[in-house]
Amino acid sequence: MPSYDPNAMPLTALVNLDKPLDFQGYVAAGGYQGAGKAILEMQPSDVLELVKDSGLKGRGGAGFPTGMKWSFVPMFADDDEHKPDNKYLVCNADEMEPGTFKDRFLLEGVPHQLVEAMIIAAYTINANKAYIFLRGEYFLCAKRLQCAIEQAYENGWLGSNIQGSNYHLDLYLHTSAGRYICGEETALINALEGKRANPRAKPPFPQVSGLFGKPTIVNNVETLSNLPHILKHGAEWFKALSPNSDPGTKIYGVSGRVKTTGLWEMPMGMTIRDVLYGKAGGLQDGLELRGFLPGGASTDFLTSEHLDVPMDYDNISKVGSRLGTAGIIVLDSQNCPVGMILNLLKFFAQESCGYCTPCRDGTPWVVEILTRIENGQGSIDDIDSLNKLCDFMWLGKTHCALAPGAVEPLRSGLKYFQDDFLQHIEQGCCPLKKDHIGVGLKQNHLTKNPPAAVNGVKHE
Ligand code: SF4
Repeated sequence: MPSYDPNAMPLTALVNLDKPLDFQGYVAAGGYQGAGKAILEMQPSDVLELVKDSGLKGRGGAGFPTGMKWSFVPMFADDDEHKPDNKYLVCNADEMEPGTFKDRFLLEGVPHQLVEAMIIAAYTINANKAYIFLRGEYFLCAKRLQCAIEQAYENGWLGSNIQGSNYHLDLYLHTSAGRYICGEETALINALEGKRANPRAKPPFPQVSGLFGKPTIVNNVETLSNLPHILKHGAEWFKALSPNSDPGTKIYGVSGRVKTTGLWEMPMGMTIRDVLYGKAGGLQDGLELRGFLPGGASTDFLTSEHLDVPMDYDNISKVGSRLGTAGIIVLDSQNCPVGMILNLLKFFAQESCGYCTPCRDGTPWVVEILTRIENGQGSIDDIDSLNKLCDFMWLGKTHCALAPGAVEPLRSGLKYFQDDFLQHIEQGCCPLKKDHIGVGLKQNHLTKNPPAAVNGVKHE
């Protein structure tokens, strides 16, 4: 693993989950210096150039360059249509992807960092109103964010004439009613307007016509959280944090049966092995690695042959998956890949907004077929049907990216774990459950104390 100072990782340095810093504590630790520098010493166009120079990319999954996204807002026009009251900044804090919990860590652990970041971003795009769209179930985040917002108002960092400048910003916390699709930026905007959370057709993109039809920037929590540090330390410092061409740090997560599940902020571009074995300690004793989803539930499986791939946007794409949210979900030798994919697809079928047919009908259809296979009632034709359904729901055939994302684990699972699918069909049951039954019967024989049932199968 390349050497780096784990105590110098900027986003998480001030995280305290038990007792996050209040306003005074955050200021004493250097907080609000970045926002002060932006508002009191720089023009919005200078901040935009700095963020562009830094090379910061969106951390919500897509990896789009943040400065470029901001530059699509018609931000420096003087006409009524583009004055600050008619632009919006929205923080996407609707974190609901299975296996992803990085934003919650920042929101609970250092809420003032996000408030400061939103001041910088809103100032740059010349917006006077900003919203944090928060996942409804994140009750503790809501409480801590609301407290931080109120403290920022009390201390002149929100409201009129921020720190004596002529800049004005109001920041509102909005808690979601709770659907995964609200994480899609245009569905989020519809939800914020009080409408049903269906994704909108693009173009027009939100940067031109977003919230209430006005130019709107939607950025992820982790993306925004980089801004106070870029303002304080500069673009070159930010680039130097990473050993490769994707600058900055990344909060990597690991879930599954590893020795230590959790989150670690590391330089962007650490290898998968660095995260999975260096930080998470590898798999629990007796288990072997079969595969993993590198960036949350809607990314393609990779396997042990990819352990030395750097975890950044370009390199993960080159081997056929996506960095996504960098929340690694592990498949071990005692997990059934068919069962795991079925579990994920049940989630996506439930969370489909129902707007377009390939997703509304396709995801439940996949669930039906996978359930059949997992229960040992599948046929070889089902494999063919699953492959066809992956094609029907792929990019360009649905209204938004939910369905293509949903089939990524399925598509790659059919490629890497084809034998598992075939064994289910040939043996008429899940091989792992069959093995468990075998173990149960063997113990039963040894103990002479027969259980009424093992894995739901009754024995005479
Ligand atoms: Fe809705 Fe799914 Fe279509 Fe997206 S792909 S618009 S979530 S039905």
